[in-house]
Amino acid sequence: MSKRVAVLGSTGSVGRQALEVAEHLGLSIVGLAAGRNAHLLAEQVEKYRPQWAVLAEGESFTAPACTEVAYGPEALAHFSRWHQADIVIAAIAGVAGLVPTWNAILSGTTVALANKESLVTAGELIMQATSTAGATVIPIDSEHSAIWQCLQGVERQHVYRLLLTASGGPFRSWDRSRLTQVTIGDALAHPTWKMGRKITIDSATLMNKGLEVIEAHWLFGVSYNNIEVVIHPESIVHSMVELTDGSILAQLSLPDMRLPIQLALTYPTRVESSVPRLNLSQLRQLTFADPRLDDFPCLNLAIEAGRAGRSYPIVLNAANEVAVEAFLSARIGFMDIPRVVRQTLEAHNPVQVTDIDTVLEIDLEARESAKGYIGN
Ligand code: NDP
Repeated sequence: MSKRVAVLGSTGSVGRQALEVAEHLGLSIVGLAAGRNAHLLAEQVEKYRPQWAVLAEGESFTAPACTEVAYGPEALAHFSRWHQADIVIAAIAGVAGLVPTWNAILSGTTVALANKESLVTAGELIMQATSTAGATVIPIDSEHSAIWQCLQGVERQHVYRLLLTASGGPFRSWDRSRLTQVTIGDALAHPTWKMGRKITIDSATLMNKGLEVIEAHWLFGVSYNNIEVVIHPESIVHSMVELTDGSILAQLSLPDMRLPIQLALTYPTRVESSVPRLNLSQLRQLTFADPRLDDFPCLNLAIEAGRAGRSYPIVLNAANEVAVEAFLSARIGFMDIPRVVRQTLEAHNPVQVTDIDTVLEIDLEARESAKGYIGN
């Protein structure tokens, strides 16, 4: 296999695992992009010797002569489009990943998509651009990778509904009064997945699952009425597709992002991976339950924003990013996250969104609005 790979967000949790998998597969790295972590990016550049490397927000660093190094968001936008890669891994966290993902899609290449915020904020535009540019989007979020795998060879008319599984996060069995006492450390201790800080908090509030419902709606063209969330604490069944005759297809494996990343890189073929295999008899049982919607309001806030459409999902995402940041810097409590998101959504006057610049404008406005509900 001789694919050339560019990794946007190479210093993050998904980005680092993507580099590990690419190395395991013997693929060449042609480009790397990160936000602030100059030290780690410099190490990666030294190791992989890409053609280009971009640091969007950090200090300059020294690199070997074979690598063109550039700085700032404009350089990031440029190299996301003119990347020289067969496959671009879009793994920047938050709405900061929108323009790079968008540009990678416009280049008409294959995009392995981790950055869920781009589909949440601009799903319709992204799916249209994917088809116009002749690009291919392969999801690497484990749930969407699972659904995408289950859908191979299935005619869309035979899909009854999608069943998105959720671990339920660390507070699955906490009662409501205890949820008001959650500390930053509690919320960062995810029971089954090791991920970046923002998505770990989103998993604890169930906002992550709400964002994934919106993502699934756009990726697979399935209506919100036909997407259901199921709590599955073991994180072994990564999601399911129910067909019209009642059959349910599922994808199972140990919770390890290297598997969906590897499949995106090797598709349409499959090769051996370094991920440990699942031993079902050791596992003994798999459990499923309904989500506790009243105690974890972020899930319904996201689904309602997705259903309401127009600019609501952009506002949901922006308010959530602001609220999660405020929680992580101890300015608000855990249960203030849904409060800030709800108040920001309620104050919003929706508009139709027809281009990426409008997405970015609404995102900025919503951030300012959300800050007003954070307080001092
Ligand atoms: P991390 O926080 O671990 O990493 C984020 C990456 O984005 C880092 O490389 C960071 O660079 C980079 N970044 C942040 N801001 C900017 C910016 N303004 N410009 C350029 N780069 C920037 O996040 P994860 O790897 O956990 O998640 C990445 C994305 O993948 C998210 O959208 C998440 O929802 C999604 N995802 C993650 C999963 C996981 O298992 N982690 C699973 C499924 C989806 P730096 O560190 O140098 O600042």
